[in-house]
Amino acid sequence: MKLLLAGIVLVAIVVILALHARPKEEKPPPKDKLDDLRPLLRGINYLLTDQPDQALRTLIEVAHHHSELAEVYLALGEMFRARGEYMRAVRIHQSLLARPNLSAELQLQAAWALAKDYHAGGLLDRALRQYARVLELAPDHLPALEASLRIREDSSEWDEALKLLARIERLEGNRRPAHRAALLAQKALQALQQGQLLQAQSLADEALALDRSCGAAWLVHLRSALQRDDADQTCKVLHDWREHAQASWPAAVAEAAQRASSQVRDGVFRWLRAHTPDEAAALFWIENEYRLGGVRAAEEAAKALGMEQPQSLRSWIRLQAFVRSDRIGALARDWSKTLPNWRCKQCGVELREIRWRCPQCHQWNTMQPITEEDACAPPS
Ligand SMILES: [Zn+2]
Repeated sequence: MKLLLAGIVLVAIVVILALHARPKEEKPPPKDKLDDLRPLLRGINYLLTDQPDQALRTLIEVAHHHSELAEVYLALGEMFRARGEYMRAVRIHQSLLARPNLSAELQLQAAWALAKDYHAGGLLDRALRQYARVLELAPDHLPALEASLRIREDSSEWDEALKLLARIERLEGNRRPAHRAALLAQKALQALQQGQLLQAQSLADEALALDRSCGAAWLVHLRSALQRDDADQTCKVLHDWREHAQASWPAAVAEAAQRASSQVRDGVFRWLRAHTPDEAAALFWIENEYRLGGVRAAEEAAKALGMEQPQSLRSWIRLQAFVRSDRIGALARDWSKTLPNWRCKQCGVELREIRWRCPQCHQWNTMQPITEEDACAPPS
């Protein structure tokens, strides 16, 4: 709604300026000028009395009578997009682009606005084509490159994403090693899924050379070791991951717990006992033991991992969910069913499963385990 009001105010200002800027010889007699201004004043009045819908209708009328004012159309298009009326915004911007003699600057603005309409409306192929059109008009349009990159990332098109990132880096004159590493790691995970083990490993190495804290790249090496049933290599990756990317390390333990064969699991468990995992990591292991062998197995694992007395209330309640078969255990299990385990350090969004790219702020490698006491309130 704030965006809408801002848009309406923008339209009003544009129209007032335009009316004032009219050449003198075109200046209508005072009565006509008042007629010109009347709908605008009515629109502003609606705005002041908090009736944005009527304000919008009136300002559309103004734009209709002053069709030479491309800026009015641009502002209206912004408003329709802000209201979620994407196709109306699209029509406005398309009709603007179809006008002959539109200045290069306005053409660029309309093309950019149209691309954002498609993007906001979920028409991603059209948005990509339109962002490309913007980049034809202005090859150094950084926001169009960033927006295209986001679409490629959303669609897991990593090669295209890497090309766009290279263009952004060239334009900024700055490298983004962590971002590049994150994209290479995703490409590696994709290769691993398709059974291309060697390519996956080499991509993961390339990613780690750029950013040792890239959790997704470590995940590629961990999954490779687990696929080969190699306990020593699994423990080595766990060791290196912890050393270089501690924030995401509990995800490594969760992965090993869930995917290891029983033989590898024994080796990993011995390694964990010897290397005292933090609470978040230990809880992932214990949770998996509970799934496999119930309360008794979880209880033994908790004892072996030194987790009988967790430091925080949150960890204590989570532990009770796995090691007790009484009423408290049942309550703790209910409580922890929807409990988020990860929080984005950038935007604060909380998630149950780790995500290498935050679904809210779209930043890479920003998830940290939630461990602190203040997070112990049950999620609403
Ligand atoms: Zn975030």
